[in-house]
Amino acid sequence: MSKIVTRFAPSPTGFLHIGNLRTALFNYLIARKAGGEFVLRLDDTDAERSKQEYIDVIQRDLEWLGLRWDRIEQQSKRLERYAEAADKLRADGRFYECFETPTELDLKRKKQLNMGRPPVYDRSALALEDAEKVRLRAEREGYWRFLLEQTRIDWNDGILGPLSIDAASVSDPVLIRADGQVLYTLASVVDDIDMGITHVVRGSDHVTNTATQIQIIEALGGTPPSFAHHSLLTGAQGEALSKRLGVLSLRDLREQGVTPAALLSLMARLGSSAPVELHLTLDEIAEGFDLAQFGAAPTKFDAEDLWPLTRADLQSRPYEAVADEIAALGVPADIAPQFWEVARENITRMADLGQWWALCRDGAEPVIDPEDADFVAEALRLLPPPPYGPTAWKDWTDAVKSATGRKGKGLFMPLRKALTGQSHGPDMSALMPLLRKVPARE
Ligand code: GLU
Repeated sequence: MSKIVTRFAPSPTGFLHIGNLRTALFNYLIARKAGGEFVLRLDDTDAERSKQEYIDVIQRDLEWLGLRWDRIEQQSKRLERYAEAADKLRADGRFYECFETPTELDLKRKKQLNMGRPPVYDRSALALEDAEKVRLRAEREGYWRFLLEQTRIDWNDGILGPLSIDAASVSDPVLIRADGQVLYTLASVVDDIDMGITHVVRGSDHVTNTATQIQIIEALGGTPPSFAHHSLLTGAQGEALSKRLGVLSLRDLREQGVTPAALLSLMARLGSSAPVELHLTLDEIAEGFDLAQFGAAPTKFDAEDLWPLTRADLQSRPYEAVADEIAALGVPADIAPQFWEVARENITRMADLGQWWALCRDGAEPVIDPEDADFVAEALRLLPPPPYGPTAWKDWTDAVKSATGRKGKGLFMPLRKALTGQSHGPDMSALMPLLRKVPARE
């Protein structure tokens, strides 16, 4: 079999979001599993909306996730190829010039709908006489549609199974706009052929595109790749996610402290029959990845699900992996490994480490329930000043126990709250040796 080549083709008109990641990851994993090639293709033919800033962030996001591309391509550098393809289609009679304005098209659509007919473009431009075209061209620029063959278009979708779309139910797609801009539908096909793309996975919003693109590929003498369309993501309640995708950008998730392994582990399995588990490497993720396990139903995405995975990822890290970040907090090197051991069980994101270090360094605002006030005051009188050794917690609580007769939770919890200001947290025996300040005695 020939080499498998996939591509991720974002339009650099915004930041990548969680939905884009799904597409990128699936294509990446297919190539990786097969030892093939993964192409990053920037669909930037829309000169007005495409921005270098987005190109930079897209690359940064993918690098952060470890989704390395073997090749990068940019559509704005390939305009000549699209013009050649357009010439071929024109020469073969598969391209025709149209002049209807958006308002005219809208009116046609409304009429069709009123008559209970599907709003498919009626091809009136095909019947224009040459003289008429000359007259229209003097008024406005024409744009170009691809003439679909009105047959059924069939393919075996890698996720949706056998699909069959009647080309007569689809409007001839516009491939070149009146201002000369080549549209995605054509550019993408030319690229897929030229770049030897063998597999395309994209969102199910592209199913109709795929039908028309199969005909365009064939008209250009290419062989259609294998197509698979993944379901679209919805919010946790099944609501459309499109409006919220802005806040679910990869950039924001990174800033919030989600880890790459958490994100990749969730997105490579969500919507499939395989369980979601933390995988620390892309190899592991690729191993259990199988497109056939994904279903057509919309996939619910809840950003909250990223936190348990992030937590597990952080907890799995040995000290060496986080030493720099801990040093950056100002934790002295001699206690840094111990600090990590104690703190890592109690963080959800790396940024939470800061509050544990602040507690060790500065002490906490004690939390003392009124009914425990006398008890805590007495206990604090029994607490020697820091630094503490490994048995400090036991020694202290033993002393408090004998002095007050309290035991169990009634003994430990008020002391934990007095020292840390919280009712949950690290093992106190391990924490005590890191504490540099404790509440003052009365
Ligand atoms: N630039 C297109 C998009 O972001 C690519 C679609 C495709 O994969 O062909 O929707």
